[in-house]
Amino acid sequence: MAQPTLLFGRKYSKGINWITTIAMVAFHIAAVAAFFYIDTGAIITAVVLYFVAGMLGIGMSYHRLLTHRSYKTPKWMEYFLTICATLALEGGPIFWVATHRVHHQKSDREGDPHTPREGGFWAHMGWILTGQGLHQETALLARYTPDLAKDKFHVALTKWHWVPQVVVGVLLLAFGGIPYVLWGMGVRTVFGLHTTWAVNSATHMWGSRRFATRDDSTNNWWVALLTFGEGWHNNHHAHPTSARHGLAWYELDLNWIGINTLKLFGLAWDIKVAKLSEIVPYDENDRIEVDGQAVA
Ligand SMILES: [Zn+2]
Ligand SMILES: [Zn+2]
Repeated sequence: MAQPTLLFGRKYSKGINWITTIAMVAFHIAAVAAFFYIDTGAIITAVVLYFVAGMLGIGMSYHRLLTHRSYKTPKWMEYFLTICATLALEGGPIFWVATHRVHHQKSDREGDPHTPREGGFWAHMGWILTGQGLHQETALLARYTPDLAKDKFHVALTKWHWVPQVVVGVLLLAFGGIPYVLWGMGVRTVFGLHTTWAVNSATHMWGSRRFATRDDSTNNWWVALLTFGEGWHNNHHAHPTSARHGLAWYELDLNWIGINTLKLFGLAWDIKVAKLSEIVPYDENDRIEVDGQAVA
């Protein structure tokens, strides 16, 4: 595989991934168009879908459950939360999880799929648009996700990750009409993409650093507010397997509250939680483990 380079701008020379770029442009146009169709019901629907895709999906499933195995939940709940995550338009579970595991192992060093050391725009969305951000590296992705590759549901959902999004779009069109599609699909998806991308860009550039991790990760309150707690990213890089990212009482972490709510109903157990005073497990942070086995 061609190793990404840490020379600013080098990756752009590889060209544009047109399918991704056209989809991104189309969603951005829909998001702008929505402001010509102001509709209270459509806006409320968009906010609800933002929680479903960003909190239940990306935060509670793709990130804390599937990537880091921070807690356990029944299979049916894992599958439900993962379907929610596909609504964020961030690809299927195997692609997302593998990319993120590589990010943790090589944070802000050679091989990181999206480090701002190669430019803030690169870290935000450049790596998505050029298609050089590991999309094509199926063999590498599989090496980082042996757990998910064994699961037929996750393999199928990785291939068909766009289907739930299309189903929701058709339902919004049928029951709400154009304003519901523009707000529920356009604004909601684009806003969610940029807030997730801000975790890769902003929280590796701006904010405070509680732990002296070897990467550039920061804790950033406004990213945390917009992403249900994912912005406590320095805490997270210091303690990647902790299901709780907002470690201080004032660090609001809705994804952690969500996981606790599952626990309340007996739907989450084996929850890993880091303490503020805990020593940062530097050596462990470079190792990607699945079920106690190092995979990379
Ligand atoms: Zn990071
Ligand atoms: Zn992570």
